[in-house]
This record gives sequence, C-alpha cells and structure tokens, in this order.
Amino acid sequence: MTGKVTKGSCLCGAVAFDLHGPLRPVYACHCKQCRKTSGHFWAATSVPDEALTFTRDEGLRWFRSSENTKRGFCGTCGSSLFWVPEGERRTVVAAGALEGELELQTKAHVFMCDKGSYYEIGDGLPQFEEFKGDENA
Ligand SMILES: [Zn+2]
Ligand SMILES: [Zn+2]
Repeated sequence: MTGKVTKGSCLCGAVAFDLHGPLRPVYACHCKQCRKTSGHFWAATSVPDEALTFTRDEGLRWFRSSENTKRGFCGTCGSSLFWVPEGERRTVVAAGALEGELELQTKAHVFMCDKGSYYEIGDGLPQFEEFKGDENA
C-alpha cells in the first residue's frame, strides 16, 4: 500500500491498525445502534477494505448488529471500533480510535430521527433525518 498512513487502536492496545491513503470525511451518526454501541453518538470515517491493515488483532471481536452488518470491538477493553456493511467492501472506522493530528473534518450529522433528547447539536453542520452522504460513503 502507498500513501499516508493513519494509525488507530482501541483503549488497551489489543487492537491496532493502519489506514492507508485518504479517509472519507467523518459522519456523526445518531441512530439507535450507534448510540448504544458508543454510549453517545458515533463519529466515523470509512475506508475501502484493502486500505485497512491490522498490526494487532488479538482483541478483535465481532457482533452481528443486523442481518447485513457487523460491528467490531475490543473484547478486552470494549472499545467500539468498526462497522461493516457486508458486500460493500469497506469498513467504517471510529474517528475516536485514530491517533494524532488528523486532516479529517466532520461533514454532517445523520439519523437525527433517532437522536437522543438530552443533547443539542450546535456546530452548524448539515443534519439529515436518515443517511445522506457521498457516493460510497
Ligand atoms: Zn482494547
Ligand atoms: Zn448509526
């Protein structure tokens, strides 16, 4: 793989990975599943499968969150790391797991239909009731 490498890991380090090349802008998802898995709402980028390589994966566990999706997390520390829409050949990666100064920016809030009632979004970014993103986002 060539290009810029962005490093990421779980809290305890039992899952560590590299993302190769450009990253999709971050979407903040307020759907019920993302709220449950993250404890608030979930902000994530997305990469093609070939752009994700693991340097440690002994902690990696998968949970089937719906018929065609699964979520990856660390079985040791519980960090919520990945969401995979099967058949799309890409992995959605938690922005909070990434290291260092990122060039990433958040682009929009999605699934506002499920947003929690205990917070307001005041950052001026677009808000969508469901998902509306880039092609292959
Ligand atoms: Zn961990
Ligand atoms: Zn979601």
